[in-house]
Amino acid sequence: MEAFFLFLFSVPPKKERTNHNMFLSLRYSFTFLFSTLLLTLSSSSPLATKISITNHDIHSFSNAGRGNNITGISQFKRYLSRFGYIKNNDTFSNEFDANFESAIIKYQRNLGLQVTGKLDSNTVSQMITPRCGVPDTTKTHHHHNHHQNRIHNTTNFVYFPGKPRWSRDMPMTLTYGFSSDYMIHNLSIREIREAFKRAFTRWSSVIPVSFVESEDYGFADIKIGFYSGDHGDGEPFDGVLGVLAHSFSPEIGRLHLDAAETWAVDFDVTKSEVAIDLESVATHEIGHLLGLSHSSLKEAVMYPSLRPRDKRADLNIDDIKGVQSLYGSNPNFRSQWSSLESDISTNHGAKFGVDTFRFSMIGSIIAIALYYI
Ligand SMILES: [Zn+2]
Ligand SMILES: [Zn+2]
Repeated sequence: MEAFFLFLFSVPPKKERTNHNMFLSLRYSFTFLFSTLLLTLSSSSPLATKISITNHDIHSFSNAGRGNNITGISQFKRYLSRFGYIKNNDTFSNEFDANFESAIIKYQRNLGLQVTGKLDSNTVSQMITPRCGVPDTTKTHHHHNHHQNRIHNTTNFVYFPGKPRWSRDMPMTLTYGFSSDYMIHNLSIREIREAFKRAFTRWSSVIPVSFVESEDYGFADIKIGFYSGDHGDGEPFDGVLGVLAHSFSPEIGRLHLDAAETWAVDFDVTKSEVAIDLESVATHEIGHLLGLSHSSLKEAVMYPSLRPRDKRADLNIDDIKGVQSLYGSNPNFRSQWSSLESDISTNHGAKFGVDTFRFSMIGSIIAIALYYI
């Protein structure tokens, strides 16, 4: 355990990390990798969700191409299979075959990385970053109009296969409840409830769906709980970092968070270098519950990964367009489209912060009335 803490303290401070320096980013990633390795040494079967490599390996991996056979390739195959890029019947050999190359290309495209078909440092670094356990939906790329793509590159959102959504009449209300048996104790239930309330409100301010907390967990549409390891749904959690949470497509309504994470609502209070922002992950997982799959846009809430001590809870225009194409717009939201579009054209992106939300709340009564007319 001494070694574990030693590695943790070698993590560079956040200020340094945000300069997109690849070396720091990799050093940071390896740090967690070694710490998680130490924690999981006793585990006999390799975890498909965690990549383990040394500084020595990284060079041979990044130079590897089709036809090469390198020890350690199999874990990347397992990882890509776990997240939806390789069919499960693959033997996971150490051969860099054509199938593996095309899986890397799909992964790089889906994660918004430079498409090289190689295990370059950016790609490996991305694979080491903590993420959501829901597999990525590999888009079937239709005949792309490249000209159109370049201009309208704001549609990165993806649905689950078959485009499932909650099928009730609009405007609909969904209830949610917290499991009292599957809770964490480093945060109070009040802090957890408030973080989720903010997360649900982000979505309800853009679509005609409202969310109400229910005392009756058993009958709630959406059931939220913190689980450890194997918890009976075939998607075991993997301890600190790696997979952070997962949830199910409509209309299953189950949202599971990995109880092994250091969940945080305020990084000034939770100082841990492996702290994960609960509200960001909650907002992301609610997106799945509503029917959105992973976006390739790094700024989107539906992008699959989140670094420790990072926050990404404000809906991006990509998230908004995605969820509105499933449920329509919250009538109150429509009036804000024009300013939103001009924001995009000036390339600043669109974020919905407190001001927009306050405005939404003021107009909500009128909005609901208008909806019924
Ligand atoms: Zn996800
Ligand atoms: Zn689960």
